[in-house]
Amino acid sequence: MTTGSRARLAARLLGGITHPRRLSSLVLFVTDECNARCEFCFNDRLRRSGARGTSDRADPMSIAEYTRLAEQTPPLLQVIIGGGEPFMRHDLASLIALFADKTGAALFSIPTNGSLPQVTTETVAGLLTRCPRARFNIIVSLDAPEEIHDTWRGLRGCFRRAIKLLHALSALARRHPNLGIVINTVVTDESVVLLRPLYRRLRDEFGPNLPLHNLQVDQRATAPGENTAHRVELLRRALRVVAEERRQAGGGNYSPVARLYSGLINDALATQLTSPTPPHRCAAGDKLAVIMPDGTMGPCEPFIFDGFEGRDDWPNLRDYDYCPAALMATPRYRSARRHIENERCGPCAWTCATAASMILLPDNWRRMIGRNARRALS
Ligand code: SF4
Ligand code: SF4
Repeated sequence: MTTGSRARLAARLLGGITHPRRLSSLVLFVTDECNARCEFCFNDRLRRSGARGTSDRADPMSIAEYTRLAEQTPPLLQVIIGGGEPFMRHDLASLIALFADKTGAALFSIPTNGSLPQVTTETVAGLLTRCPRARFNIIVSLDAPEEIHDTWRGLRGCFRRAIKLLHALSALARRHPNLGIVINTVVTDESVVLLRPLYRRLRDEFGPNLPLHNLQVDQRATAPGENTAHRVELLRRALRVVAEERRQAGGGNYSPVARLYSGLINDALATQLTSPTPPHRCAAGDKLAVIMPDGTMGPCEPFIFDGFEGRDDWPNLRDYDYCPAALMATPRYRSARRHIENERCGPCAWTCATAASMILLPDNWRRMIGRNARRALS
């Protein structure tokens, strides 16, 4: 990272920690459009629309609407972009640049299925030039060796295009220290047994410059009575495979800070998936909020996708002049926040909220240190 981006990250982190009720992270779902048909997609708004990309919901927010929103949003540590496939939105660069300018967001995480290498590389290259003080993490999905990956994603050629994208981004990262690249694998019963051949294929392709590999617990809604510990077992199994393969490859491209961060977040995630009550305070609803393409806003993805108190309707920013604070003061939003504050959520698989909760709420540092110390001493 450059000195400027490091300074901005530190300032935003400090601001986020010292203002315990101020919004610090936004998850912006920028489109319902997707060219893939993944079996494990958690975004049932795409599914509910019948055919992907033909959602009957209201039009997505325009750049003018996002501008109004960004003007009324406090300084942000992070913006996580969601979809659909974000790079299908032709004005994505303008949308991101305005959040970098108006909220001073320090970090943008952009997941992609990797199927649009040219437009993705051009967009990212433009953003790196336009927003020199922001850090961009591009998270490219690869779940299995080529043919199976393409079958699971329902998109022929997806694997090859993702590899092409990773090469192009790696070349860009050599010139731009503010660009991070992550390969993401969703861990399921099916993918965990294919992790070793996938990893070896990637090792052959990228050698010692293999990007960071993130293992993503399956984030689809938990079914009533589901043994959520099984998801943790799969995650641990997958982590062991990647650690072994990485050792054999001579380490890979992993800094000690990245390893520590990923270890702590995975530990927190595993604990919250296996505890009957939340093991830490969740930041969703005050430090973090989720905004759908049509302006609907809720505290987190599970509340939006799975509903709360038997309803899945949430207030819409369009009715509150795009002011997040005004929307957060509505009875519906406050009721959800009270539910979260009283730690009444069940097992939860949501990494974004876990990471925000562990980083931004000092209360949780104590719980995390205590948990790891007890484990080390036992
Ligand atoms: S690429 Fe992402 S948004 Fe599109 S179907 Fe797959 S998981 Fe869903
Ligand atoms: S624990 Fe999960 S479901 Fe509950 S508020 Fe946090 S992210 Fe949402």
